[in-house]
Amino acid sequence: MPALDPATREALEARLRFYRELGLTDFYRRPVDASQIIAPAGEFSSSEAGAPGLAPETWDGTKLTPKPQENEPIPPRKTFQDPPPIAAAVAPTDRASALQLIREDIGDCTRCALHKGRNKIVFADGDANARLMFVGEGPGADEDAQGLPFVGRAGQLLNNMIGAMGLKREEVYIANVVKCRPPQNRTPEPEEANTCSPFLFRQIDVVRPEVIVALGATAATYLLGQRQPLAGLRGRVHAFRGSKLIVTYHPAFLLRDPRQKKEAWADLQIAMRELGLKARNSSS
Ligand code: URA
Repeated sequence: MPALDPATREALEARLRFYRELGLTDFYRRPVDASQIIAPAGEFSSSEAGAPGLAPETWDGTKLTPKPQENEPIPPRKTFQDPPPIAAAVAPTDRASALQLIREDIGDCTRCALHKGRNKIVFADGDANARLMFVGEGPGADEDAQGLPFVGRAGQLLNNMIGAMGLKREEVYIANVVKCRPPQNRTPEPEEANTCSPFLFRQIDVVRPEVIVALGATAATYLLGQRQPLAGLRGRVHAFRGSKLIVTYHPAFLLRDPRQKKEAWADLQIAMRELGLKARNSSS
């Protein structure tokens, strides 16, 4: 494929990020029909191999597949591995040490490719006996540097969201689907998420929060084991490993599109209702 110029690449990345945050994550490239492509004027002469109209060779010499039909089936969606069975309950007094054991099991992890670029493993932060847990996607640059989840700009907003719910950050438990920073903050690959998520499930089974808030599409996808646009998952209570799970927008998305904060607040109010909490304030 020809290299994209930096501006186009950046615009494409921003658009994909936007779709991802809405939970639209599966994209398929259909084979290109060279006869449908109009070359920029003067770039190709009709005698050049692969010039428009001279299929089946593309300009870089790759063979093209036949023109797809509009109703050609979309490839099957990627599957999720089965979640581990729910572990036996841990007494509240033993939860902190049970979490420490999970951290020790992770060790200096090299189970997936993400270890190559990480600085620190980001295990979790907060109260081992929290009633409320937040699950994000994966560490960013600040988290990778400090070894703690949600300590950058998105973390500031998450702290405000927690405060608006009438809680302090230390009273909740915060973790991510993957514990090492993906390069350029890209979405974790299914293999990375599936390799790391068993540790998250174990953390959930130890903490046994009454309510879990999945922040964004990646968290919702790998917790619920189904790929769906966020719109179809928000606004209701899901049953999940003995907890109630609520899906909302990722704080990083809210930073980019603050108009959605109202919607996120509505989701957090569902969580508060389930926890019997009263709002301190409802501003940003
Ligand atoms: N975004 C996440 O999903 N997790 C973090 O810890 C920080 C940013």
